[in-house]
Amino acid sequence: MSPQELEPSPASAPSRVAAAGRAGLLAAGSVVLLEAFWLVAALPGAALVSDLGALLVAGVATAACLDAAHRHPPSLRRFWVLLAATMALAAAGRVLWTVQRVAGGELPHTPLIGAVFTAGILTGTAALLCSLTAPRTAVGRARTLLDGVIVGLALVPIGWVVVFRDVAEADLADPVRTLGLLYPMLDLMQLTILVAVAGPVRPMWRPMTLIAASLATRALADTAYVSLAVRGDYFSGHPVDVCWPLSYLLIVAATRYPPPPTCPDTDDTADVPLPPWWRVALPYLPVGGAIVAVVLARQPTGQTPQLIFVGMMALLAALAVRQGLAANENLWLVARLRRLAYTDQLTGLPNRLLFTRRLRRALRGDGRVAVLLLDLDGFKQVNDRFGHATGDTLLTGLAARMQTAVDGDGTIARLGGDEFAVLVDGVRAVSPQRLAERLLDALQPSDGDEDVGVHPSASIGIAEYGPQHASHTDLLRDADIAMYAAKAAGKSAYRICTPLLRESAVSRAELIADLRRAVDERQLRLEFQPIVDVATGTVRSAEALVRWWHPRLGVLTPARFLPLAEEAGLILPIDRWVIHEACRAAATWRGRAPDATVAVNISAAHLRRPDLIATVTAATAAAGLAPRALTLELTESALIEGSDTVLDRLRQLRELGIGIAIDDFGTGYSSLSYLHRIPATELKIDRSFVARLDSADDRAYATVEMVTRLAGAFDLSVVAEGVETERQHAAIAAIGCPRGQGYLYGRPDQPAAVGQNRT
Ligand code: C2E
Ligand code: CA
Ligand code: CA
Repeated sequence: MSPQELEPSPASAPSRVAAAGRAGLLAAGSVVLLEAFWLVAALPGAALVSDLGALLVAGVATAACLDAAHRHPPSLRRFWVLLAATMALAAAGRVLWTVQRVAGGELPHTPLIGAVFTAGILTGTAALLCSLTAPRTAVGRARTLLDGVIVGLALVPIGWVVVFRDVAEADLADPVRTLGLLYPMLDLMQLTILVAVAGPVRPMWRPMTLIAASLATRALADTAYVSLAVRGDYFSGHPVDVCWPLSYLLIVAATRYPPPPTCPDTDDTADVPLPPWWRVALPYLPVGGAIVAVVLARQPTGQTPQLIFVGMMALLAALAVRQGLAANENLWLVARLRRLAYTDQLTGLPNRLLFTRRLRRALRGDGRVAVLLLDLDGFKQVNDRFGHATGDTLLTGLAARMQTAVDGDGTIARLGGDEFAVLVDGVRAVSPQRLAERLLDALQPSDGDEDVGVHPSASIGIAEYGPQHASHTDLLRDADIAMYAAKAAGKSAYRICTPLLRESAVSRAELIADLRRAVDERQLRLEFQPIVDVATGTVRSAEALVRWWHPRLGVLTPARFLPLAEEAGLILPIDRWVIHEACRAAATWRGRAPDATVAVNISAAHLRRPDLIATVTAATAAAGLAPRALTLELTESALIEGSDTVLDRLRQLRELGIGIAIDDFGTGYSSLSYLHRIPATELKIDRSFVARLDSADDRAYATVEMVTRLAGAFDLSVVAEGVETERQHAAIAAIGCPRGQGYLYGRPDQPAAVGQNRT
């Protein structure tokens, strides 16, 4: 057989079905019209016409529903099949009714007929609960069903008051009459369920509207029937009878519509609007009415009719169950919300919110807290080259591996994108460094995952604080700084945040901006380091060293900000300020020690400027300081770069009596001939040579000795820099170096010691 033969001829089959459906609808409609005319006109045989009419239309409706079940997608099949069963039961019930009626009584309410109608109610209700927009969960369905039951039960006392209030007590003993009340009640229960399951989507799916109309018609018919029957005014073939086939006809019409174009995705409830408040309150409104009705229904004897009593008990039970369900559902929803709010949807790890919460809690405790911040290097390329789906798969896999690596020694979370974090707190066996190593190991490509081609590595930054020490933002920022340092160090590395790292992380631009204001806002301070006579320990001079008291970063050393100042052209105002301050300080010293001097560092940039001389003379003049009390320190390298004009400038300074020191001597490459040309007054032997005097380094000793002799030959003063130990002091004393500077004699500090003997 060829594939074509297997298929029904595609063009004709649907059209034939459509034609049959149309014919069914037409036929059923005609029957209803004819019956209506017959009954209203009270033509003979009205009772039989009524029975036959209902039977016929119910039969057509059964067939139409089965056909719809065939045509609709599987998700709607059960709905139509159950409706078909309902229609079939209605037809069956009508057959039984007709047979019984013809055989005997006028209103044959036999238990069998009751059972068939009840079965129809059950299938109808089930159909509603299987409609497309009905809740998917068993709890949701149970809740909807209960809403219907509650409305139905609440209507019992209301119906009682409305229908039976004026009926003589003796007549109420007839169960046919009182139980008949159940029919409209059940209709309204179904109608409530329909409203509940129709969902908040507008417009409603057309067939649901028609089914609602069908239910309303039947409720109307049942109510009219009960009212008439109670008063004894009902007879078979009463015009109200036409309502039943009419309600079936509406079902037939409902089957004529195509399935909804888009079957709502049950997972995608984000853009489905919430139902309005009145729809939520709907089942409870009749309850209020029921309470009033119970009071009104009390008979003159003071008794409450038994049916009402039973109904109210059932209503209470239904309400209790409904309440229980709602409470349970709320708990479940809260749990789900919490899960949604605190977990990362892709990896299932805790998200940033939960992580920061845990971090804050950990920081309130009294143990050390460490954070590892992990960023995947090269993950963007994976996303760009292979698409987000691949990226997501990779991310999920890596997240799982990392979680295994952490293995309960910390809390791993996904902070977003390709950024993860691990919180390590409390009593723990593992150090953050060890954990970082484990994480890096876990991310090494293994045999199973070569399919992606690109394998991202990770950079990890670690920050660790003591208890009660820092805010969580500080800790995260520090970890971030360390993470960037790790990135800079190359792939697959981790770094721990140190104060140095933290400082350097503040962006250069920011620092330059701050530096512009530093002079004006008096953030610069001078410290003075004593320069002593090696033989006597007398302090006659001090070197001015600048510090920046940064409002946020604390005290910054010159090495930290002077290069930036040079770069930004800010060195001149700084140097100028330093010269002025140093001169003022020295002027006060000279009150105590008339021969006290001060040394000031001058940058290479300043040396090249012609206004150097003007600046210096202005400073000495302003402070009332003799120029010979001031020494300018210039680095060897700055002097070598200097042109003839620079040398000329130095000579002019010399003529003014200002001292010139060659700083860091020995680190540059000045030849002896060059030294001869510079009009210096002093050599400062770099501390790298002095440091080596400690280790009995003969060459270092020889160098210091040679420079000292050389300086003597050139008639230069000599200062050994960076004297830290007694041994170094002894060495320079033995060599005969006249002056020394270093931590051994005094750290840079306030200038109180100048002019006093070293103790
Ligand atoms: P420098 O001119 O060689 O200054 C001596 C440096 O060595 C100072 O560092 C001082 O604190 C440090 N030092 C002193 N004794 C010892 C010791 O025994 N051991 C060790 N390890 N170090 C010692 P500081 O204050 O950080 O200054 C660094 C450099 O910044 C200075 O080197 C100087 O070149 C420059 N500088 C400092 N203040 C100024 C200034 O006001 N203007 C300019 N243009 N440059 C400055
Ligand atoms: Ca210096
Ligand atoms: Ca120096």
